[in-house]
Amino acid sequence: MLTWESSVQELQGVGTHRSELLKKLGIMTLGDLLSHYPRGYIDLSSPCGIAEAPYDEVCAVLATVIRKSNEIRLHSGMKLYKVTAADDSGVLELTFFNTKYLVEKLEYDTPYLFYGRAEGSRNRRSMTTPLVYPADSGHPFMAVYPLTAGLTGGMISGLMKRALKLNLRLPEVLPETVRLPHHLIGIKEAVYSIHFPTSLEQLERARRRLIFEELFILAAGIGALKTHTKVCRAAAMQPHSLQPFYDALPFTLTDAQLRAIGDLVNDMQRTIPSNRLIQGDVGSGKTMVAAAGVYFAFLSGAQSAMMAPTELLARQHYEGLAPLCKKLGVKIELLTGSMTAAQKRAVYQRLSHGEVDFCVGTHALLSEGVEFRRLGLVVTDEQHRFGVAQRAALQMKGEHPHTLVMSATPIPRTLALMVYGELDISVIDELPPNRKPVKTYKISSSKRERAFGFIRQHLDRGLQAYIVCPLVEDGEENTGLQAASSYVVELGSSAFSGYTLGLLHGRMKAAEKEKIMAGFKNGEIQILVSTTVVEVGVDVPNAVIMMIENAERFGLSQLHQLRGRVGRGKEQSHCILVSDSRNPDTVSRLQMLCSSNDGFEIAEYDLRTRGPGNFLGHQQHGLPQLRIADLTEDLDLVRDAQAAATQLLSVDPMLEHPESASLRHAVEQLMGQVGERPN
Ligand code: ADP
Ligand code: MG
Repeated sequence: MLTWESSVQELQGVGTHRSELLKKLGIMTLGDLLSHYPRGYIDLSSPCGIAEAPYDEVCAVLATVIRKSNEIRLHSGMKLYKVTAADDSGVLELTFFNTKYLVEKLEYDTPYLFYGRAEGSRNRRSMTTPLVYPADSGHPFMAVYPLTAGLTGGMISGLMKRALKLNLRLPEVLPETVRLPHHLIGIKEAVYSIHFPTSLEQLERARRRLIFEELFILAAGIGALKTHTKVCRAAAMQPHSLQPFYDALPFTLTDAQLRAIGDLVNDMQRTIPSNRLIQGDVGSGKTMVAAAGVYFAFLSGAQSAMMAPTELLARQHYEGLAPLCKKLGVKIELLTGSMTAAQKRAVYQRLSHGEVDFCVGTHALLSEGVEFRRLGLVVTDEQHRFGVAQRAALQMKGEHPHTLVMSATPIPRTLALMVYGELDISVIDELPPNRKPVKTYKISSSKRERAFGFIRQHLDRGLQAYIVCPLVEDGEENTGLQAASSYVVELGSSAFSGYTLGLLHGRMKAAEKEKIMAGFKNGEIQILVSTTVVEVGVDVPNAVIMMIENAERFGLSQLHQLRGRVGRGKEQSHCILVSDSRNPDTVSRLQMLCSSNDGFEIAEYDLRTRGPGNFLGHQQHGLPQLRIADLTEDLDLVRDAQAAATQLLSVDPMLEHPESASLRHAVEQLMGQVGERPN
């Protein structure tokens, strides 16, 4: 019998090839498929007539086919089909490429819905490659799914239909005691309606229920974790002077850094294990605040750990902090996944014997073999890259260590509370003096060649550049967007032939990524073509140009993070935003970035103009990837779900009751994920 856990290959039409493609979308089981929720809907509920179709906007037009042309072969080998549709108000010329079967299937004198961008002039309206739907399909809202090359929305919809027909028993994680008071529909109705809604109201009910469910699972998971890591008392540290630390630095700390250090050191002298977030713009010098805490712990005889999301970042911290540690007598070690087993064992031993004061590392710090003798402070850098569970795991390595997380991404308070529980925030709102602000320009793609020339001039002087693209590879629905993997090839054989280019994206293996980044760091690679994976913490002072393709695709805060990769050395740095968008909001957003270098000001503007959801971008908060909920937009539901979860946990704190089995399973699935983004 087929269940939620059965392989998608059980579905008719899914063989090994297609199942590989589905796997790219994270779909392995029938349950995965059914919870592959649409990212939007095509609204066919109120189509317009031809004459009233808005110009250059995407819309659905109801019309009848009156003429079909013969196939036209183009030089490129493409086949072109022209179809004429009409209604009482006018005529619509439709153009299709290569889709013979689709055109042949169209019947005369039958109404269809054509969905696409309505162009042309008043007397001659036209649409190129519209989507075509029968006028009476009974589906006024067509789901639009996240796709990957080789899979179309139609295929996914077809599979969805087949999977729903199986009438599987769907796991209900929300008990009636939660559903009834919150007016939430059952799981079965919700899943049907999210994929094939028949009305907006029905869709809204389904969304609300599924969002609530996801938030409930998350809140229950975080709650259960907290019970598990329930901390009681930390060993209070004694007051000590940090003067030797300050004296050892080659620069004077900013007032903002000193304030944050003061907060941290206060925390550490109390017996309540503290949880502090250091929020500061890129380049504001967060690492030194952490280092002060490490030194303070050292003076009290406690060890510290600092976890970075990538090997490269961990190595960077290690190399940056080692000279300082040496001066202060702090014994520092590096621990990363790529070290040999023997090397790791040696570090484990020194850690457990207390011969190491400060261990900098990656996820390798979470390995089973790692034991500290007296862990007093745990620092997590760029915290949003880690899963909640991972951070908790590092904390559990110590009795009740103090914790410090560092982030350049401002996080709204409600969200922070959900992620960290009780947490204090220190803000570093000041940059070290003498920084040359990055010069930022917005250009259209017609100026791209000139920008390339500008980049070449810099490369010829021994400097380096980044070029960031929104996608990893060309996808069918993403026409017009630069994809890193094809762009690097194109650039290498045109504008930058003779230069060394490297490609970096999130689908590469960790070791490959490290290799490319190391090549860029040591200057072998002159231009790094990349997706947004470079946005986090990487420090290559010799890279002075950041060019961002399709800049309109990124959130302002994200663009600011990307820009923060340059402007780290003595040379004047430049950030070039390439965008052809003529949308006035987009234009003014990008202009805002050209005129401001202040991350907080930018975040505020972003928050004002786009709302919190977009502002944070996806996956910027260190929580598992959510399928449907948006922690910043669905704030009311966040609160309700959290309250409901707390209530349930008060009765069943570790989700051990049989009634909680579905929920527990869902929690394990969700919390098991890593917080890292796919691109
Ligand atoms: P971020 O907050 O982005 O993590 P870092 O801690 O990496 O920033 O610091 C960026 C650079 O600024 C580092 O090279 C660091 O040594 C330097 N730095 C930190 N504090 C100061 C300061 N007060 N004066 C001058 N340079 C500083
Ligand atoms: Mg940093």
